[in-house]
Amino acid sequence: MAAPGFSVLSGRPFQDRRRRARSPALLLVLLAVLAARPLAQERFIDVNRGIQDAGVNGPVKTVHVSGGVYVLVGGGANIVVQVGDEGVLVVDTGAAAAADSILAAIRDLSKRPIRWIVNTTLDPDHVGNNERMSNAGRTVNGNPAAIIAHEKLPIRMLKLPVPVPVSARPLNTFFGDVRDLYFNDDPIFIYRSPGHTDGDVLVHFRRADVIAAGETFLTTTYPVIDMANGGTTQGFIDGLNRILDLAVPKHLEEGGTYIVPGHGRICDEADVLEYHDMIVIVRDRIRDAITKGMTLDQIQAARLTRDYDPRYAAASGPASTAKFVEFIYRDLSAKQ
Ligand SMILES: [Zn+2]
Repeated sequence: MAAPGFSVLSGRPFQDRRRRARSPALLLVLLAVLAARPLAQERFIDVNRGIQDAGVNGPVKTVHVSGGVYVLVGGGANIVVQVGDEGVLVVDTGAAAAADSILAAIRDLSKRPIRWIVNTTLDPDHVGNNERMSNAGRTVNGNPAAIIAHEKLPIRMLKLPVPVPVSARPLNTFFGDVRDLYFNDDPIFIYRSPGHTDGDVLVHFRRADVIAAGETFLTTTYPVIDMANGGTTQGFIDGLNRILDLAVPKHLEEGGTYIVPGHGRICDEADVLEYHDMIVIVRDRIRDAITKGMTLDQIQAARLTRDYDPRYAAASGPASTAKFVEFIYRDLSAKQ
């Protein structure tokens, strides 16, 4: 049995995880282990059974995660809502088409004002209700609820083919690695996580012990490395390592820190480790192929993701398997 301080999954000290995933010899061992496991079968932890169909809120469903932290599912990207005596803090605002359902679901959780909004990224299914939700809320000074983001995000929003209007852009920005705030008796840490774009963040509710991962972690598809907006493969790996550093699994059973992906079901640390290792392994395979002189077409034809495809493959769109491989290829090629 694993001693305290050792990973239940690997029996190795937690500090070894990154090195383990980057060591070629151990990668082969890991590959063998992964090949022996039914990857297409998702782990499903119990907290996901708490989904409540509120009915009146259209397609949006509410899941209690921990403490005052809930997830709204079905209104675009996952929306994390923290409620308490001081009011409501919302991580991402969902898709514009679901605005009414999302606001109704938040009002079901708390009648107190929406004080803070955090934007994890710039995609419209994450920030589509920024203006509406901000105007539905109030800061303690009586202004529309403040939208927090890393300083790179509103700059990227301005340069999009269809720029995000100023009224919907985050004005409460921070630079550097982290911003913290204390709200509803919970120390909340907003960490820069420049994988999907260079303005992405993830949010850790320290007391509730919940991480809102945004685009850094998904259970539904491969990651989307939005290179046009500063995204990098290494940024994803760093962001996932950050989550692995912050998250603590409950000994020998599911639970501990809960991680809410940008899309998909609620997870624990084991799922994040698997996603991290998947990106590292695929990245290393593509790097080897580039070293051998293979072209992008040859790499695509070689299906270097095939053991992960049952779980993450998508045929089209920005999260498609082909795009994932292409983004890593271009990212690595640009650095050579
Ligand atoms: Zn998304």
